[in-house]
Amino acid sequence: MKFLLLFCVSAFYLFADAHILIYHRFNDDRYPSTNTPNSELKKQFTYLKDNNYTVVPLKAIADKLNANESIPDKWVAIAIDDGYKSFLNALEIFKEFEYPFSIFVYVQATEQNYPDFMTWKELKSLEEFNGSLEFHSYAHPHSTKLDKENLRKDFEKGLEIFKKRVGYMPNFYSYPYGEFNENVKDIAKEFGFSAILNQNNGAVDSSSDVYDLDRLAVVGKSNLKTLLSFETLQVEWQEPKSFPKDSNLTKVNVKIASNATKAKLYITDIGWRDIDIKDGIIDENIGQKLTSKRTRIILKLGNKTSTKIIVKD
Ligand SMILES: [Zn+2]
Repeated sequence: MKFLLLFCVSAFYLFADAHILIYHRFNDDRYPSTNTPNSELKKQFTYLKDNNYTVVPLKAIADKLNANESIPDKWVAIAIDDGYKSFLNALEIFKEFEYPFSIFVYVQATEQNYPDFMTWKELKSLEEFNGSLEFHSYAHPHSTKLDKENLRKDFEKGLEIFKKRVGYMPNFYSYPYGEFNENVKDIAKEFGFSAILNQNNGAVDSSSDVYDLDRLAVVGKSNLKTLLSFETLQVEWQEPKSFPKDSNLTKVNVKIASNATKAKLYITDIGWRDIDIKDGIIDENIGQKLTSKRTRIILKLGNKTSTKIIVKD
């Protein structure tokens, strides 16, 4: 219903898209696949500033979504997962630009003083620089592999320690490895977060599911101009709903809020293809075995994009 309503309304109004950036490590060249050198970070922040983006706390975007209000144009929020110590390499740059940020804490790593992670004291010290502390699980599990009881235990243990060390409950949660399914999402929702974030490239607008917010992965020499050109594609994923039991993906079926007749479809390990849209429906036969345990299905219509992640459990 919400979908249909948005489709009708969007014919008359232009929705603005916000973007949430996701970083992991800073100025730490031991891990090039998750690292952003300070020189690049400075370029990216300069780009945001020169192009009149407003970097807002994540809470500002979540509050708009939860109030069903449209999001002002050119809003960007910055999320940093895991709480690696290398964030301290970049802190001066965040301070220089006065950009707020949210750190999603991998609680076990901090609690047990893993060498590469910030301590609770270091994390708490970031609050004075507009840093908010959020939740990224206790043990950083592959959540879809856990049964409900063990998944709930991870939340309970992690949140108890978080509250004891930080002094309050987090507002937000990000899925470890970006992996989730409907069960994981339902259990995460039980813990009262005001928003939950994934790790699929995309934008956020008033049609976005507040428990499945896309984040743009920034790493190495990522081009912010390209990432920020992503817009939200309003869709309803019908099929697949989850990772097929026999790993055989028979088809992709999606309702799409557009009059377009062509789109592009990407499937991990299978690649891109051009597809047809008929009367707002994509019904594409695939008939191929999925070889990746974490498969992303991406739809693109120009800059508009939507991603469905399915994870083998
Ligand atoms: Zn993580």
